[in-house]
Amino acid sequence: MKNFIYILLTLLFLQTQVQAFNVVYPKNTYQKINSPSTFFVGSVEQGEELYINGIPIELHYSGAFAKSVLLKNGQNIFVLKSSMGEEKKYVIERPLIGVNYKKAEYNQFETPLIVEVSRNGAPIRTTAVQSGINRLAHYKNGMVLSAIGELGDMYKVELSPQNYVWIAKSDVKNSKQNYDKAILYNYKKQQNKKEYIYKFALSKQTPYSIEENGNLSLKIYNVVANKNDVVQFSFVLNQKLMGYSAEYSGNTLVVKIKKEPKLNKKLPLKNVKIVIDAGHGGSEQGAISCLGNPEKEFNLSISKYLEHELKAMGATVYMTRHFDRFVSLNNRVKYTNDKNAQIFVSIHANSLPDNKNPLEHRGSGVYYYYDEAKPLSESIINAVCKNMAVRNNGIHQASFAVVRNTSAVSVLVETAYVINPDDNSLLIDDDFKRKYAASVAEGIKNYILQQNKVAIFRKNKIKFIKG
Ligand SMILES: [Zn+2]
Repeated sequence: MKNFIYILLTLLFLQTQVQAFNVVYPKNTYQKINSPSTFFVGSVEQGEELYINGIPIELHYSGAFAKSVLLKNGQNIFVLKSSMGEEKKYVIERPLIGVNYKKAEYNQFETPLIVEVSRNGAPIRTTAVQSGINRLAHYKNGMVLSAIGELGDMYKVELSPQNYVWIAKSDVKNSKQNYDKAILYNYKKQQNKKEYIYKFALSKQTPYSIEENGNLSLKIYNVVANKNDVVQFSFVLNQKLMGYSAEYSGNTLVVKIKKEPKLNKKLPLKNVKIVIDAGHGGSEQGAISCLGNPEKEFNLSISKYLEHELKAMGATVYMTRHFDRFVSLNNRVKYTNDKNAQIFVSIHANSLPDNKNPLEHRGSGVYYYYDEAKPLSESIINAVCKNMAVRNNGIHQASFAVVRNTSAVSVLVETAYVINPDDNSLLIDDDFKRKYAASVAEGIKNYILQQNKVAIFRKNKIKFIKG
């Protein structure tokens, strides 16, 4: 009992004690970090000074600090001490380099191994790397493929002569099917109010890919055709690409291309459905800012201002979260696709890996995966940087799940860096957040107003085989 009271008193004492400084990164006082450098991010109480291993560090007027430090191999010790005498010791272990790991070698099979996709949405990739922007298509369960070799944990797949891709071994299983060529019987074009629909009737399911190269072009592989067993079909569009999909229904490959919304001059976003995605939430904090606020809070508050602005322009707006709660990435994607939204905007604030210096990184950037989202990304970054005093970090292609798997034109906005003291001061300013949201809305509006013509379909020269 005595012990219990003692512990209780100690806890109460610790809670009421004012700390002279607060470190938000590194998270733990003992940590392994495999990088040539890392950083200490946090804040000090007013009037305090802070020293790392006896050397004073630069403090922002807000009390925030972000100090990059070099790491040597093995153990690194950093003692952080405030002018009031409070002290914290950090031990950071950098693993010794020079560990040999065997590099995988490519092995060509004597006879192809026929496999089939065993996981819905499995990506085929243009290089033997299981990350990044190298995805060519995603296939459903049962798609038959011909593996001609292996490299580490990936198979090299021949879709048709001279068309090679890669797939993870864990995404396929051995198949009893064969890889005979398919026959393309015919195609039909239909349309409704919302989309153009193209139906390609085949003798069986066979691999395909869709690429954006100014226009939209479809390739169907391993088909009886003139050249390399590939049928290529271009959808020449005289409209912005605003979302499309391609998937099998039985043996028919169905391509759907969304039409541009009808323009309404008074309310430019009247016929536009937009999903706003406030990044992170609930148990998932996102990055922690120098001053200790979690990224999820900045994201939500900018998202709510954005909702208000977009509604005022006539848009139908959906929010993946409206308060502080956890939402999985899958559910954010599913929600967006279920709403059949034309535009998806995810709001985040940025952080950095250990080897970067937080004092050297500020400003805004917009990320997209599909080329169709490039014009929207440009429009948003232009509006933001025209209206706000933020550094322009441009637009970038990146493989984020929320912009990759949504059928809307999808972008992710990194508003500012939470671990940069100057940017952190902006992010805690309500006026900044309101104006930022208004600028994103302006960027979306400008994008919608860019051009609004009807899609034109150009005839493709394809030989059909009568079935
Ligand atoms: Zn984030």
